[in-house]
Amino acid sequence: MSTPHALIVGAGIGGLSAALTLARSGWRITLVEQTAEPSEVGAGLQISPNASRVLLSLGLGEALEACACHPLALEMRSAQNGRLLSRMPLGESMRQRYGAPYLHLHRADLHGVLLQAARELAQIECVFNARVILVEQNASRVSLCIANGRELQADLLIGADGIHSLVRATLFGAEHARFTGCVAWRGVIPASRLRDADIPRSAALWLGPGAHFVHYYLRRGELLNFVAVTECEGWEVESWTQKGEYRELFDEFGDWPAPVSRIIEAADPAACFKWALFDRPPMPQWSQGRVSLLGDACHPTLPFMAQGAAMAIEDAAVLASCLRRSAAIPGALLEYEQLRRARTAEIQNTSRDNKRRYHYRGAAAWARDLAMPALQGALARK
Ligand code: FAD
Repeated sequence: MSTPHALIVGAGIGGLSAALTLARSGWRITLVEQTAEPSEVGAGLQISPNASRVLLSLGLGEALEACACHPLALEMRSAQNGRLLSRMPLGESMRQRYGAPYLHLHRADLHGVLLQAARELAQIECVFNARVILVEQNASRVSLCIANGRELQADLLIGADGIHSLVRATLFGAEHARFTGCVAWRGVIPASRLRDADIPRSAALWLGPGAHFVHYYLRRGELLNFVAVTECEGWEVESWTQKGEYRELFDEFGDWPAPVSRIIEAADPAACFKWALFDRPPMPQWSQGRVSLLGDACHPTLPFMAQGAAMAIEDAAVLASCLRRSAAIPGALLEYEQLRRARTAEIQNTSRDNKRRYHYRGAAAWARDLAMPALQGALARK
């Protein structure tokens, strides 16, 4: 029997993870990416054990260890008075409990580790600078067309092409992503600039009326990453590289309790980026015949549980497992989406609910803060 061949559209964290899990399951992969040299821009990612477990199983533990930061805990705090609302240990206890670590990674570092691993495998061919413009299938083959006119054929096609997925639009029709009314500011600061602020090696989530602020260390503690989320109707630019007006960020968060105010002061005004947050409701179907979707292409998720990339990595593991166990590709894809849809929908919906919860005002915020330790205790016992 000849080696089965898959086309994967998109070399983001989802597409690369899928290329690696499928290659290890005996597939030959052609990974097609529109950018010339794909990379992730500067920002952090929290990678929880459900996803780090998959990355470790791909043999990436050592490479990740060299660039990760291990947080001690996640602390939630009130932005009104600085009070600690809850603390969830993330360090050794997480590893003992789930058999895998909770990692903080620079996106570029994680992407680089995945890309390097893909380049080292002979079964994976990377075709970059190649925008896919057409996807077609019949009962026995799939094909895609690249903007330069080149055509590729295979047994299976996975659309890992992000929130504005062409593969998704081809299968299920074009539909705009919805603007969530939230804008995220993000920046990365050398930790040396914040030494006097004495910020612990934990992730912190500060809750304020209509806004929240997250900070954590990256790259073995050399960098501090922050994400500042505000509500802002009518500004809908979705780009990792859109510069924001530092003054706006300062006006919104400059008077929050330390260390938030210190982080804002230390941020480089020329390197503060602003990103309009979009999502989509859960989809009733992901696959058709020999084509399916993965990652943000089928379940774009607000970052308010830090699970979007983690879900893409989980997808990759489950997809490979389904294809390993079944010779019939359409059946394996249906099994994959059946195993994944409920879980990813729950994460999408809870992340959306968290937007509301994190931004409560007045009495609702007071009641939330009062209940927080009990809520966190219940979560920890789950
Ligand atoms: P993408 O990263 O969008 O990759 C899609 C790829 O497809 C791109 O490389 C693109 O160039 C390519 N492509 C698109 N169209 C075509 C085409 N036609 N032809 C060829 N190539 C194409 N998740 C976490 O798990 N933890 C976190 O802490 C976290 N924090 C976040 C913070 C913020 C502010 C945001 C916005 C998101 C965060 N996420 C987090 C979510 C996470 O970033 C995404 O879920 C994840 O990056 C999605 O990966 P993907 O590979 O599915 O899609």
